[in-house]
Amino acid sequence: MEVSVIIPIYNEEENIQLLFDRLSAVMNGMCNSHELIFVNDGSKDQSIHLIKDLAKQYDSVKYIDFSKNFGHQIAVTAGIDQASGDAIVIIDADLQDPPEVIVEMYEKMKEGYEVVYAKRRKRDGESKFKLWTAKLFYRILKTITSTNIPVDTGDFRIMDKKIVKVLKQMPEKNKFLRGQIAWIGFNQTYVEYDRENRNAGDTGYTVRKMLHFALDGITAFSDLPLKLVTYFGFIVSFIAFIIMLYALYSRFILDDYAQGWTSLILSILFIGGVQMIAIGVIGEYLSRMNSNIRDRPLYIVKDTNLEEQE
Ligand code: UDP
Ligand code: MG
Repeated sequence: MEVSVIIPIYNEEENIQLLFDRLSAVMNGMCNSHELIFVNDGSKDQSIHLIKDLAKQYDSVKYIDFSKNFGHQIAVTAGIDQASGDAIVIIDADLQDPPEVIVEMYEKMKEGYEVVYAKRRKRDGESKFKLWTAKLFYRILKTITSTNIPVDTGDFRIMDKKIVKVLKQMPEKNKFLRGQIAWIGFNQTYVEYDRENRNAGDTGYTVRKMLHFALDGITAFSDLPLKLVTYFGFIVSFIAFIIMLYALYSRFILDDYAQGWTSLILSILFIGGVQMIAIGVIGEYLSRMNSNIRDRPLYIVKDTNLEEQE
C-alpha cells in the first residue's frame, strides 16, 4: 500500500460523497495504490451507512465504526493503528482541508521529509471567537513548551510510516497528535494552504471539546502551569510575610489596632482564590494521570472491514 488516508467522521453525512469523489480523484492521479480509512466516531446521522455503501462498491474504502463518540484525536489514532500505507495522510471530512493539497504535500515528502504538515494561510468561514482563541492558544503553547509545535496547523498532514511506528509506541490517553508528531522529530516541513469553509453540516468541535483539547495539549507538553503555581505561592507568601511584620509592628509599637476588616476580608478572599486555582491546576494534571493509570481501552470498535493488525 502506498498511501493510507485517515478520515475521522462525526455527523458528516452531507460531505461523505463529495469528499470521496474529490479524494479518490486526487489519490488515483497521485499514486498506484491507496486506502481510505473512514473512522466513524459515533455519528448520530447516516454517515456510517453511506460509508458502508461506498465500501461495498470500492475495495479502497475501509471503515472503523466506534461504539460511541470518543473524540476526533482518538478517531485519528484508531486510523493510525490500522493504516498500512508507506505514507499516511490525516484529513478532515468536511472539506475544509482541500484534498488537492495532498499532492503538493506528497511531492514535498519525496524530497526527503518524514512529515509535511499543512499550515493555514487563512481560514475562511470560522467565527471570530474560534480564530482568535485558536491563534492565542497556539502562541501560548509555543511559549510554554520546549517542543517546537508549529502554529496555525491542524492535523491535516502526510507522514512517513516511520513516524506512525513511533506514534504507536506513545500510548498516552490524552492525545495531542500534532504535538506528539512534532516531538518525534525527523525532518518536518510544511506547505501553506487556504483553509476553506465547511462544505456542509456543523462543526463537531464544541467549545467544551476545544477547551478540553487545549488543556490536553498544554498538560502533555508543558509543566509550566505547575511551576507557575509554585512561584505564585512564593510571591503570595512573601507579601503575606511583609504584611505580618507590619501588623506586629502596628500592634505592639504603634499600638494601633482593631480596625481593618476590609483588608482582612480582601486578603482572605485573595488567598482563597489563589489556593483554589492552584488546586485546580494540580487537578488537571492529576486527572490525566488518573486516566492513564486506569488504562481503559482508548476506543471500542463496533464494526470494521479491516483485519486486526499490530
Ligand atoms: N470529528 C470527530 N469526532 C468529534 C468531532 C469531530 O471525528 O467528536 C471529526 C469531524 O467529522 C471532522 C474532523 O473531526 O472530520 C474535524 O472536526 P470539525 O470540522 O467539526 O472541527 P473544526 O474544523 O470546526 O475545528
Ligand atoms: Mg472542520
